[in-house]
Parts: sequence; structure tokens; C-alpha cells
Amino acid sequence: MPKNKVCRKSTCSVLQRKRLSRIVSSIASYPRNRLQIDIESGHTTRRNMETRALKNPYADYDGSPACTQYLFDPHGKLTAEFAGRLSSKISELLSHMEHGLKSADPRDCSGYTGWTGIALLYLHLSNVFGETSFLQRALDYVSRSLQCLTRRWVTFLCGDAGPLAVAAVVYYRLQRRQEADECLSRLLQLHRSVVMGKGSLPDELLYGRIGYLSSLVFINQQFEEEKIPMQYMQQICEAILASGEHLSKKRRYQEKTPLLYEWYQEYYVGAAHGLTGIYYFLMQPGFGVGEERLLRLVKPSVDYVCQLKFPSGNFPPCIGDSRDLLVHWCHGSPGVIYMLLQAHKVYGEERYFVDALQCGEVIWQRGLLKKGYGLCHGAAGNAYGFLALYKHTRDPKHLYRACKFAEWCMDYGKHGCRTPDTPFSLFEGMAGTIYFLTDLLQPLRSKFPAFEM
Ligand SMILES: [Zn+2]
Repeated sequence: MPKNKVCRKSTCSVLQRKRLSRIVSSIASYPRNRLQIDIESGHTTRRNMETRALKNPYADYDGSPACTQYLFDPHGKLTAEFAGRLSSKISELLSHMEHGLKSADPRDCSGYTGWTGIALLYLHLSNVFGETSFLQRALDYVSRSLQCLTRRWVTFLCGDAGPLAVAAVVYYRLQRRQEADECLSRLLQLHRSVVMGKGSLPDELLYGRIGYLSSLVFINQQFEEEKIPMQYMQQICEAILASGEHLSKKRRYQEKTPLLYEWYQEYYVGAAHGLTGIYYFLMQPGFGVGEERLLRLVKPSVDYVCQLKFPSGNFPPCIGDSRDLLVHWCHGSPGVIYMLLQAHKVYGEERYFVDALQCGEVIWQRGLLKKGYGLCHGAAGNAYGFLALYKHTRDPKHLYRACKFAEWCMDYGKHGCRTPDTPFSLFEGMAGTIYFLTDLLQPLRSKFPAFEM
């Protein structure tokens, strides 16, 4: 079995990829059939497919007032009791997280597993609760990030754009304008290399152009003004379109999809590394893709992804992968849903919305993952799919489901889930769960961090 097949099923970051490839090389002398069994344990067998998620123990929304009245009112405003439960859980988990972070990797600056992710959580807490003590914590953590930048990667989640963007916002909030401007200027210095694509820069979210673009979007969201002129976003989208057209032609895929993207020689589909994350950004208004290319290039590419849907309503991690296994934000319906809802907004065709609703069903059935409570591949990240549906429809069913997933998250650690490699980080661990519980306090303003617009 090729290494990449192992990695793509079980992971979404280069770090994990390296770890896995080390494991694979260390057992390379095994007989092939034995190797197959070892690698596949926990990954590909039918039995294991069923044990990737825990059975959803909650009754589904039934439309009755009794079903939701202890959670939120008819306008979607959380009850004081439920909001109080969320807030006290947030405090409790925060103190666990602070304790746990004492043994975290001091040199990891990233938003995904490192200090920028923790800083982003505190910035979020300060935005929602309005407490300056949280802003001070954000400053402490992002300052650590600035001291150990990768000087290699350029994205929000895994590169230097995240630390610079979060620091710019934190300094700005603290009235330290000069430091904020310095961070912004350093962030924009990366722009040229992103557009030019030095060193075969990919296009996906975690390590590629979209991941840099998301940091510029973050700045404008947080400053609530067009601090970064849209032409910066437009130039990146031009480069992404050119890259996608080029690869589609090179691989003779034009008949199927006018745009095509790869990461580590795979055509990933999910939000973190793949096509749907890229198309979600290309369909945003103001990014200069324009009506003609939205119809000629993006729409048929979105439609090609739609054809990859499994009978269950879930989506594969890669083109050509027929195993319906993963229900994560990084791979599968919980990440694809954002592209579908955006396609529904942009093109107005009902079928995108129908597919998005089906993603919601998949998440409800199979979204309480054994991998834990995190954002990237955990229950909290999956619950954001319900919030996206709720914001799109205002149907209380989706808010109800998000609340039930929050109840699951509030029983953190009681379901026998696996402990992630970075158990307190934003994208794999407890910080992400806290981020989600905080977002649920204001469902209509919620956004999957570093991704959703
Ligand atoms: Zn993941």
C-alpha cells in the first residue's frame, strides 16, 4: 500500500503525514499482508467504518416546543439556563487547557496546533465576552508565536500569516497602533511570493494560497473595514484560477472539471486540503472571479465534486477513493457543506441545498467521532456544519442539533475517545471545543475559525 493512501485516510496535516511515514518505514520489513492488516487497523475495514463514530444517543428534533424550549426560544436566543451551562463549561475547560498547555511544544507557532491557535481562542473570548483580560492572554500567546515563526509556510493555520494576522488584531485592540501596522506590513510582504507561487506553493487551505488569503479575510473581518484592499484577494484568486486550469489541462481532466488542484499528488476533496475549501473561497463576492468565470470555470468544477457524493450523502477524501469512511471537517461532508451552501447562494440551484441538507444528516448520524471533540476531526468541528445550515435557513432543527453536539462536548472526556497528539490545541484539542461552545452563545454570528466567511 502506498504511503499516501495510508496518510490521506487518517490525517490532514504534514506533521501527521511525516509521523505516519516513519511508522510505515519502520515496519517495511513486515510481510506485505501483515503490513496491510497493521496499517488498515482502525482505518478501512467495514467493522472499523462503523466504529469511527460513537452512536448518537440523542433524540432528533421533532418540531415540538418541548424539544427545544429548554435550549433556545423561537427566535433562536439561548435560554439563560443553557447559556449558563455553556459559560460555566467554558471556564472549566479553560482552566484545564491552561494547565495542559504547560507541557505543549514551546516552538509551535501555528494556528493549527500551536500558540497562535490559543491566541485566536482568547481573541474570540474577548470579542464575545468583552473582557480585556482575555485580550491580554491573547497578547501573551501570540507574542510567543512571533518569536518562533516558521519562515517557511505562509498560511493562517500552519504558517506565518496566522501569527502576524492575529498579532495585528490584538495590538490594534490594545491601541498599540504602531505594532499593529508593523505586523500588517509583514503580513503583506508575503503576498508577492503567494501570488508568484515560489517553490510550487499549493493552493489548499492548510499550506497553500487559500490559507494565506484566509488571513487577509480575517484582518478585514476583525477590523470591520477594508483594511486590506480587495485587489490583494483578487490577485491571489487569479493565481489560484490559473493554477487550477493549468493542472486540469495537464492531467487531461478538462472534460470533467475545468479546475483541478492537488496536494501531495492527491486530488483532495475536503475543506482542509481540497477542492471544496478552494471553491468555497472562489465563490465569495468581491474576490474578482466575476460572473463569467463563476459560470465557466467554478460552477462545472463544483458540479464535478457534487458527482462524487456517496449514496450516504457523504463525500470522499480524494477523487477516486470509494471508501465512505470519514466524517470530519477536514475530509467529508462537514467541510463540503460550506461549498454547497455558498453554491446555493451564488447559483440559486436547489440541488446544492439538498446536498447540504444531506451532509447535515450524515453529520447527525456519524459525526460524534471517536477521534474526540476538536475542530478538524472532532465533534465540535462537525457541529459547525449545523450552525452553517442554521444561518442559511433559520430552521430550529439545525440549531437544536448543534446544541446536542455541544452537550456531547460538555461531557468532554467521558466517552472513551482517543486523545489527540496536541490535546489542548485549537484544531485538534480542547481549545477548539471551547471555541465552538463560545460561538454557540451567538449562533447567528458563529464562524468556523480561520475558514468560514
Ligand atoms: Zn482533520
